[in-house]
Amino acid sequence: MTTTLITGGTVVSATGRVLADVLVDGERIVAVLAPGSQLLGSDLTASVDAVIDATGKYVIPGGIDAHTHMQLPFGGTSASDTFETGTRAAAWGGTTTIVDFAVQRTGERVQDGLAHWHELAAGNCAIDYGFHQIVGGVDADALAALPGLIDEGITSFKMFMAYPGVFYADDAQILRAMQVAADTGLLTMMHAENGPVIDVLAEQLVEAGKTDPYFHGIARAWQAEEEATHRAIMLANLTGAPLYVVHVSAKQAVEQLATARDKGQNVFGETCPQYLYLSLEEQLGASSEQWGAFEGAKWVCSTPLRSRAEGHQDHMWQALRTNDLQMVSTDHCPFCMKGQKELGLGDFRAIPNGIGSVEHRMDLMYQGVVTGEITLERWVELTSTTPARMFGMYGQKGVIAPGADADIVIYDPNGHTSIGVDKTHHMNMDHSAWEGFEIDGHVDTVIARGKVVVDAGQYLGRAGDGRFVKRGLSQYLI
Ligand SMILES: [Zn+2]
Ligand SMILES: [Zn+2]
Repeated sequence: MTTTLITGGTVVSATGRVLADVLVDGERIVAVLAPGSQLLGSDLTASVDAVIDATGKYVIPGGIDAHTHMQLPFGGTSASDTFETGTRAAAWGGTTTIVDFAVQRTGERVQDGLAHWHELAAGNCAIDYGFHQIVGGVDADALAALPGLIDEGITSFKMFMAYPGVFYADDAQILRAMQVAADTGLLTMMHAENGPVIDVLAEQLVEAGKTDPYFHGIARAWQAEEEATHRAIMLANLTGAPLYVVHVSAKQAVEQLATARDKGQNVFGETCPQYLYLSLEEQLGASSEQWGAFEGAKWVCSTPLRSRAEGHQDHMWQALRTNDLQMVSTDHCPFCMKGQKELGLGDFRAIPNGIGSVEHRMDLMYQGVVTGEITLERWVELTSTTPARMFGMYGQKGVIAPGADADIVIYDPNGHTSIGVDKTHHMNMDHSAWEGFEIDGHVDTVIARGKVVVDAGQYLGRAGDGRFVKRGLSQYLI
């Protein structure tokens, strides 16, 4: 076993920061020591195999991105990052675990969808990975399969109130699935947008000649998100199922979550960097020499980017501070402009939905520390500790403590990161949704289960380093 001592750094947790040395033995953290401790030998630095000097830097638990879609088939194409390219990009950005979504559709068996996702990921990942189960066809067979997921280490499943004819579940289906969740401890994840309403609005816009990407954001009105969020909360209340709402972007949806939480309901919400930084006006409404008004296609995702004039972005930051929202994931679902996004030239409904961010989440959220939106501790909590607790991995992941996997990022607050396709860009896509973003910090070293996978601008990992993580039940319920 290789022993490594990380010396001189500031170890940051969700609850505080402390100067400490971290001792790694093989794949695990075995001790967090007072700086220069002599307890385990007269000179520990002389007896370990490797010493990493983290003086002046933050030592944090590796990022956990609990919402990714590697190689997801969508809209006649597939997300452009494979498990290999996407997890490598994640590692570059300080994320050491992803939770991706296995997919079952109407007419398919849940077990087959899950087995297929295991095949796609096995042996290809640079970092550890788990799965949530998408249930795109909630029928008797799927309902019967849900309890068996827990033994497979899959303790959460996602349904969609949007995308009629693709993934859509109606209220009766949602009710039945939530009843199973309440009985078993599975966590229900919800894409909360009123899909049938959105589809009518989108059709009317296109008929009126309003076909540019901007109108994707108009069709997917905040009222459709608020309404679906409220309905999901009430169905969860009725059944007693815990509820986790994915990619929250409307401030009105946050208010629904906050109201339910104030009443003591087990209701949670995540947002994503795009809903904190980007907007309907600036990105979906963008135009360029190359693409004209179709430039906005780069930022077509669902839920959509919201109006800055309406103040959604500021409200998302506030909700992260007050714990009305608990986590930040990416909903990483990248598509190239060439050959993929351009399927929707002339009709925004045909633009594959998704933004690629898995590489930049830790940096983008750190910039929120720099600008005073969140504290350093909250940064760690939102990006690692809460994802671990929410999805049943805490202790193994999400913390720097004895016994935990040695998933560690050494982050330099005096470093700098310029995001752009010709700069830091390892995702498999021909543009960056984050082009031109400047970060006042830098991911220096990334250790995944004890192995240094990124250091000093070098990638040292390997496809197949990452293993499947069997998750337990949520550790976040009240
Ligand atoms: Zn979704
Ligand atoms: Zn998603």
